[in-house]
Amino acid sequence: MDADRFEVLVQHSYDAIVLTDASNAIVYATPAVRQMFGFEPEALIGRNGFSFVHRTDRGGAVERARGLLARPDGTTRAEMRVRHADGSYRWCECTSVNLLDHAGVGAVVNSFRDITDRKAAEELAARAESRLQALLEHADGVILLADRDGYVTWASPGAERLWGWSADTLLSRQMIAAVHPDDQREIIRQYRKMASAQRLTVRVDGRMRHGDGTWRWYESVFTNCLDDPAVGGVIANVRDITDRVLADQALRNSEAQLEHQATHDALTRLPNRTLLHDRLDTALARARRTGTTVAVVLVGVDHFQVVNEGRGHAFGDATLRAVAERLATHARSGDTLARFGGDQFVIVADDLRDEREAMDLADAVVRAFDHPLSVRTEADPDPAELFLAVSVGVAVDRGHDAEPGELLRDADGALATAKSRGGGRSVQFVAGAREMARERLHLETELRRAILRHQFQVHYQPVVDLRTGAVASVEALVRWQHPQRGMLLPGSFIDVAEETGLIIPLGAWVFDASCRQLVELHDVLGGQRAPLSVGINLSARQLAEDGLIDDIGNVLAATPIHPGHVCVEVTESAVMRDPSATADRLAELRVFGLRVAIDDFGTGQASFSYLRDLPVDVLKIDQSFVQPMEQDPQAADLVAGIVGLGHTLGLEVVAEGVETDGQLQLLRDLGCDRAQGFLFSTAVAPRAVVDLLRSRPTW
Ligand code: C2E
Ligand code: MG
Ligand code: MG
Repeated sequence: MDADRFEVLVQHSYDAIVLTDASNAIVYATPAVRQMFGFEPEALIGRNGFSFVHRTDRGGAVERARGLLARPDGTTRAEMRVRHADGSYRWCECTSVNLLDHAGVGAVVNSFRDITDRKAAEELAARAESRLQALLEHADGVILLADRDGYVTWASPGAERLWGWSADTLLSRQMIAAVHPDDQREIIRQYRKMASAQRLTVRVDGRMRHGDGTWRWYESVFTNCLDDPAVGGVIANVRDITDRVLADQALRNSEAQLEHQATHDALTRLPNRTLLHDRLDTALARARRTGTTVAVVLVGVDHFQVVNEGRGHAFGDATLRAVAERLATHARSGDTLARFGGDQFVIVADDLRDEREAMDLADAVVRAFDHPLSVRTEADPDPAELFLAVSVGVAVDRGHDAEPGELLRDADGALATAKSRGGGRSVQFVAGAREMARERLHLETELRRAILRHQFQVHYQPVVDLRTGAVASVEALVRWQHPQRGMLLPGSFIDVAEETGLIIPLGAWVFDASCRQLVELHDVLGGQRAPLSVGINLSARQLAEDGLIDDIGNVLAATPIHPGHVCVEVTESAVMRDPSATADRLAELRVFGLRVAIDDFGTGQASFSYLRDLPVDVLKIDQSFVQPMEQDPQAADLVAGIVGLGHTLGLEVVAEGVETDGQLQLLRDLGCDRAQGFLFSTAVAPRAVVDLLRSRPTW
């Protein structure tokens, strides 16, 4: 190649070419150095080549040059930073050829290629790589690469910290091996689905075993990059979500608990009113579709207050639980048994064919309490036996147009009627609450009129002294001579009188009339016999009335009667309504010289201990104990117990409701003091009392 052509090539070469001599001094530089390093080629002549090399790279360059000088025609190649005229450095690839011995050249030929951009790119790549490493190391998940069958081919460095397995341990294992047996199916299913389509991502949660042996919850996101040459596998992103899952579970549990608390009664664990309304709503809607009948059976415990106050609230609570259990055995599966509040429970029975079925259910509920309840309190490990009766009110969705609230009100009205008819075992069925209310209102108006029109009478039932067989006293029992309905017994009006307060004037009238008629009786009978006494019933409302003592005081002052011949009768449940206030009232009555009897004794099933502190003279055993005496030894035992108890407390004991000679005989054997009942006589008009006493003096 001629010199001119060479010169042109050199001038236009992109690479910069620098010739150095054996002592590394620059002897020639191509114009490209201007562009590459900012120096004029002439300015470089005579300078030491190494003085332009970066300090860090200089040692290596010197070393290489030395070796090169020893090898004529030898070549070295190295990357180094070379100073620019502006003080910065350029990355260069430098190829040096030892042509010192070459006749035409006689120098070392160093050609420089600027690789600054490439270096920068490499550095960037390296930095990105280490940043990625750091990210993977500190990511909150483990990243795995796996093959189509789930064998791990690569694991991110965080694996050990997050999953307890080192990346090495994971390699060549199948991920599924760590999965909880219960979760394997789903994970395999999802993995297969993912593996079926390129770029498909699936997410699946499941338990996997941690390196420490515990099961933890992980969320795995699998992405199919099997056909992506850059990846060539499935990317699995595995994140520990145990805390979140546990928190979710705790939240769900507490939500469920709250939901349960809001819809259930804490004492009996039965559905409460809120849930009852819902269930009733559902039942009514279903009945409308199927044409069946829904019944609301409302159950109230009779005299529950007496149990609660007499034996304490803990015992009361335990009793309610026992009642709930007993009722539960009578609700059919599908029925809702709920606590309605207080001592009331509701059975919602749906899918009934007709009303009769509802009444059968109600009857069964009443009969369910024929056997005593076994009441177990925390304080006392031995269960207590308790006889309780329930009243039941039933309402039925006849026309398929009732609202839950209406049905419940109807059942409530029916229950009130059942209770007013003596409570205990009666079941009442009403068409609707509105009719009930109307009936009651009508009765109230009639009662007011009856008092003004003197439609009441007092009848007297004899009470026999069991030692002498003679009539010792009579009980005053009010009757209503109704213009249309004839003679009405107290059962059909006393409750309404009590509720409306009409019992106050009515009771005052009975007291006055009874006292005056007793005086008349004494006059008629003269001195033929020991003077009769009279028992007069007082209701709870009368007892609580402030004017009672004044009214009675006035009657006693106006009538020539010996107060010792008058015995006021107060029912056990009336006493228990407010025992201490009643005790004060009874004590005041005794100051007049009146005697006091506890009526219907035993129906409350209360503890007898309160009796000791009560200012009373007479105990009247309720007829529900007396009547079964002959057939039921337990009833006889109970009567014996009450007689014994009364005598221990120095009380006179009267048996009510004696209807048979057998009962009379048993009572005599037990040493009961007095008896009253249809065996001797029903309650009769005053004139008939005289006839009776004259015709049949003793039993
Ligand atoms: P009580 O005071 O326990 O009266 C006894 C009730 O038992 C009376 O019912 C009486 O007729 C009934 N009886 C008596 N012997 C027998 C028997 O052998 N067999 C049966 N099955 N029953 C018998 P009556 O007259 O219907 O009175 C019911 C209740 O009404 C009374 O129960 C009393 O609590 C109340 N009462 C009656 N008169 C008055 C009154 O003037 N004022 C108040 N506040 N209450 C009254
Ligand atoms: Mg009485
Ligand atoms: Mg009685």
